[in-house]
Formats: sequence, structure tokens, C-alpha cells
Amino acid sequence: TYQVHIIGGGLAGSEAAWQLAQRGVKVRLSEMRGGGDRTAAHQGDGLAELVCSNSFRSDDDEKNAVGLLHHEMRRLDSLIMRAAEKARVPAGSALAVDRDIFSADVEQHLHDHPNVEIVRERVDTLPENGPTIVATGPLTAPSLAESIGKATSTQSLAFFDAIAPIVHYETIDMSICWMQSRWDKQSGPDSDGKDYINCPMNKEEYLAFHQGLLDGEKTEFKEWEKDTPYFDGCMPIEVMASRGVDTLRFGPMKPVGLDDPRTATPEFPQGRWPYAVVQLRQDNKLGTLWNMVGFQTKLKYGAQVELFRTIPGLQNAEFARLGGLHRNTFINSPVLLDRQLRLKGAEHIRFAGQITGCEGYVESSAIGLLTGMMAAAELQNRPWQSPPASSAMGALLSHITGDAETESYQPMNVNFGLFPPMHDVKKKQRKEAYTTRGKADFGDWLKTLEPLPA
Ligand code: FAD
Repeated sequence: TYQVHIIGGGLAGSEAAWQLAQRGVKVRLSEMRGGGDRTAAHQGDGLAELVCSNSFRSDDDEKNAVGLLHHEMRRLDSLIMRAAEKARVPAGSALAVDRDIFSADVEQHLHDHPNVEIVRERVDTLPENGPTIVATGPLTAPSLAESIGKATSTQSLAFFDAIAPIVHYETIDMSICWMQSRWDKQSGPDSDGKDYINCPMNKEEYLAFHQGLLDGEKTEFKEWEKDTPYFDGCMPIEVMASRGVDTLRFGPMKPVGLDDPRTATPEFPQGRWPYAVVQLRQDNKLGTLWNMVGFQTKLKYGAQVELFRTIPGLQNAEFARLGGLHRNTFINSPVLLDRQLRLKGAEHIRFAGQITGCEGYVESSAIGLLTGMMAAAELQNRPWQSPPASSAMGALLSHITGDAETESYQPMNVNFGLFPPMHDVKKKQRKEAYTTRGKADFGDWLKTLEPLPA
């Protein structure tokens, strides 16, 4: 018998199993690979297989948000971090691994643990009762995805991420851009009609930009992504641009109802409409991140940075994430989950990993780790307090469980834009300031945790 059922033995599920098992909780870990099923991206049957790159990105815990996440996971005895250390290969300041050694080590630890039973089986429906963790990842089996869709309403379950680039607010040139909603429309009783940041373009700038979209180097869809229709509502910007030179000016770059104050004259005191506009919408409650509305794209990252910095006001933009479009199953967590990653209305079910809308190996593992800790605390009647929002884990968790904008919710890597801002610190010292504060606060939080049973 088991106390928690974990569905999915990828990065998040394996880490959650380890955290539970180490706290004395008995776990059934169901993994469909090795039981006759496959995903389109996994090659083998091993637990915690890395489907693409072999890198956990930067290991620099002083200047890098994902490095800070590594640091915090190590302090919580993460299995993924242990195995990564063992499988480490030289990669400068990045943490890269031999993927076979890595996966085998994760599997060995779980296999040898008396509290873990690994079962090679596919689960097709959400269990009606009993503590459950769903960690089935971006390529969740269709049968289970359907069951999740039924439990959460289909609008809250996505099969593609259509990611518009996200810009750090402090890198936007507000002497060029201005804040205004189209026609000053108020979004609610408290709204001042200034919800969007607008970047104006004249005709020449627009035509050059349009050509840049057509000419820029694109990433191809993978074979298995091609049969999933994505065209409703999330067409790549360059595909839209290819339909005609004015399509964007009548679509996401429409200038109507947007008065550029820099063009004010006595006759038009509010200013005139530009030829075209790029609009940015707030992406997190802190107001540190803004997404480029309608700019999901298959342009290569280098091409995006080069082209998007030609947009007036974004000439020095730094991107918290660049645009993309991939096959990816994830739920609208800020709407559906409570602060402990439980499904509202079916609280015996928790979600973990990329399916919650975090992005990346490390982030998925970190959310798996937290889910395991939360489930253990609940079963053992221990109070739970989430890690502080100034830590990498806390920032990521806050984003997923409530601080992200729910309408534009798209998968996100950990980044300093998710942390409570430190405006008073000089820009050059800010990264170190974030990690120093994060480590101190995380350390204080750790002291409040009960030690693991011997
Ligand atoms: P997974 O690691 O995918 O684990 C989910 C597990 O659940 C799988 O083992 C699957 O077989 C199993 N499963 C699914 N449905 C069922 C079911 N019904 N019953 C039982 N088991 C089930 N991130 C990076 O940081 N770097 C990259 O290079 C990178 N490349 C990626 C490439 C692709 C093609 C994709 C899709 C994603 C990529 N990601 C990458 C994103 C993400 O970090 C990984 O997908 C990561 O593995 C997510 O971890 P997870 O634990 O949530 O899901």
C-alpha cells in the first residue's frame, strides 16, 4: 500500500517521490514508459530522462536566477541535483550532465528506496480520491490530458505554448513609449485607462520591421508538432506578416485609439496616432515584466533580439524570455491551483513540473520538490509555509500560484523579474543583491522546517 500516488516519473515526479520517501511517506510512482507507452520526445524508458539539451543552465548562484535555484535545491537535498553532480560533465559555469548516468542514478536511488514503488503503467484518469501528484509533463498522455481537461474546463488546459517575448520593465525607454489603453478604455472601476505600454512606429520603421519579420531566420516545427493545429488565436507574428504588408497594422500592431503624446500640437493636444504600434501588457503583479502582445514567433532567438530592438523604445530591451511556439501541455495554474499547488475543488490532487506552467528542467524539478514537501507536510499534519518570495523557489511558486497574469499565462523560466524588485540598488549590483537577499531569506525559512526523520 502507498500513501501518495505520483503520476509521471520524469524530472518533477522523481524529485517529488524522493522528497516524500525521505520524509517517511510511501509512494507509488507510475511511469508509462517501459509499460508499452512512449512520448514523442523521450527516447528510452529511464526515469528523469532529459529530452533535449543536457544542461541545467547556469550554476552561478551569485548572478543568475537559475543558479540560485540550484543552490536552494541542493540545500533541500534534491535528488535531481545529487544525480546531476554525479553525472556532471565540463561545461564552464553551466551545470551539464551525461544524460544516461544522470537518469540511471535517479532511477537507482528511487528503486533502492524502501518507500518507493515504481510501476510501469499509464494512468488514464485523475484518481477520485487519495493524495495524488500529477507530474506528467509537457507530453502528458492524451487520455489523461482529456481527464484533466474535464476536471479543469478545457479553456484552462493548453496544448501549445504561444509565447510572446517578455521584456524587463526597467529596460524599456519610457521617454519614447507611453502608457494608454486603446481609446482610454478602462479595464475595471479602478482602472485609469492606461494599462498598456505603447511603442510607436512611423511608416518607414514599420516597413523595415515588416521586412525583418519576413527575412528573419525561423525555427522549423518538429515533425510531431505539425499535426497539432495551433492557428486559432496564436498564429506566429511572421506568418501573419506574410499575409500582406498591412495585416499587422490591422491586427496586433493596430494604432487606432492610441495618441502618442510626443506628437501633441495645439490642434491635437493629446497627440496623433502613430503609423503602427507595438503594445506591451503587464505580465506579473509586481509590474516588472511586460509581454509583447501578439508576438508569439518561430523566429530564432538571435533574430528576435536583433529585430525587436529596432522597435522604438525597446532599443535597449532585455528579455526575460523570448517568443516561441511549441507543443506543450499545461494548465492555467494561477486560476486552477491554490498556493499549495492543489487543484481547487479536488484538493487531493496536486500538480507538479512543467504541466503547472513553469518551464525548464530545473524549474520542473524544483516544483516537484516543493510539491513533495507540501504533500508530506499535509499527511504528517505539519504546518506548511512556502519559501519566501525573495528566494528563487518562492518567486517561481508565487508566479505559478497567483502572481502571473492569468489571461496571458504562458510557461516561464525562473528569472529575476519574478522577484520582489530592488529599485534602490544600482543596476550593476542588482543581481548579486537579489541572490544575497534570496539566500539569507531562504536560510531563515529553512530554519523553520522540521528536520527529516532519521
Ligand atoms: P517530464 O520530464 O516529461 O516527465 C513526465 C513523465 O510523465 C514522462 O516520463 C512521461 O512518460 C510520463 N507520463 C505522461 N503521461 C503519463 C500517464 N498518463 N501515465 C503515466 N505516465 C505518464 N527544458 C530544458 O530545461 N531544456 C531543454 O533543452 C528542454 N527541451 C525540451 C524539449 C522538448 C521537445 C520538450 C517537450 C520540452 C523541453 N524542455 C526543456 C522543457 C521541460 O523542462 C522538460 O519537458 C522537462 O522534462 C519537464 O519535466 P516534467 O517532470 O514536468 O515532465
